[in-house]
Amino acid sequence: MPKVLEYNATLAGRDDLTDALGIFRVVPDEPFPTEGPWFVPGQYMVLGLNNEEEPELAGVQRPMSIASAPEDPSHVEFYIRFVSQPASRNPFTHQLWKRQEGDRIFIRPKAKGHFTVEHAVGPDDSRRKVFVSAGTGLAPFVSIVRSARNRAPGRDLGEFVILHGASYDADLGYREELERLAREEGLHYVPTVSRAAQCEGWSGAQGRAEDQFRADRIDEFEQRAGFAPGELRPDRAVLFVCGLQGTIGASIERLLGRGFVPDEKKLRRALEVPEETPASIYFEQYDSDPVIDLTDEGKVAALRDTLHGALGL
Ligand SMILES: Cc1cc2nc3c(=O)[nH]c(=O)nc-3n(C[C@H](O)[C@H](O)[C@H](O)COP(=O)(O)OP(=O)(O)OC[C@H]3O[C@@H](n4cnc5c(N)ncnc54)[C@H](O)[C@@H]3O)c2cc1C
Repeated sequence: MPKVLEYNATLAGRDDLTDALGIFRVVPDEPFPTEGPWFVPGQYMVLGLNNEEEPELAGVQRPMSIASAPEDPSHVEFYIRFVSQPASRNPFTHQLWKRQEGDRIFIRPKAKGHFTVEHAVGPDDSRRKVFVSAGTGLAPFVSIVRSARNRAPGRDLGEFVILHGASYDADLGYREELERLAREEGLHYVPTVSRAAQCEGWSGAQGRAEDQFRADRIDEFEQRAGFAPGELRPDRAVLFVCGLQGTIGASIERLLGRGFVPDEKKLRRALEVPEETPASIYFEQYDSDPVIDLTDEGKVAALRDTLHGALGL
């Protein structure tokens, strides 16, 4: 039974990038700790709002990845899409879109989640980190890169690749910031749009984020991301994928042939990955559809053969 939420924070900033995409800044009543990192980049927090038009529906809470860096305790930032076809009766994003700067909001005080570089491979892993996202799945990667800069100002960001897919160039949130980091600090930023014909003057990558891993495209992606041909392999790179099922599932399927091994237990079991083989693809999923349909035995068998071939099993 949903309960009425007691607000404990203020919506301190709202930037609308389009009608359905926004950056929201939240300041809690109880200040964030100023000593030491209070979350690990890649984690999420839970936001909540009460339904004011239909009070009987009470409050709705949803997890949202943090886009700001923990070194900035003044606020916490989120990159959120308005979901036009929600699955619930009291959709959070429909409430949020009615709120303006200065309105009150609920935030669970503790950040959560294991989708962090530290948890996946540890802070000292020297492989390049390839961050793959569509839409607002970009948020945790913005946090990771911002925090890396804060912790070591002036460091070269060449270790990081951000592949970000959107329908139109106007939907590429954080584009200016990421382009500047690419120009000035070595970040490899590969934005891609799936409706390039409607994006005047677009000369970048085309197609969905996961399309860049198709057999006929992967060479081009490697070039854009600063890899030598054939270098996108688990001994040189770790993949982090964030967003909806389509992006995650297709990225995994297309990279099995390069020997990338998913972290998730169910997938590893279905693909018969030996226990000692380390993972090299980690993901955070925003929806709840199965990442890969494991009931499709023919498909799973083909994927297993592809991975085993790549791993020489
Ligand atoms: C760990 C985690 C972190 C998340 N971080 C973010 C974030 O940083 N930004 C963000 O916008 N969302 C994020 N989400 C999704 C978010 O929690 C909600 O599911 C989403 O905002 C829809 O909530 P709703 O109540 O408006 O719609 P609901 O009625 O709950 O509708 C759910 C449906 O919305 C669709 N959906 C969910 N998220 C998205 C999305 N981002 N873009 C397009 N369609 C979507 C899915 O099909 C899902 O089945 C995250 C989810 C998880 C599990």
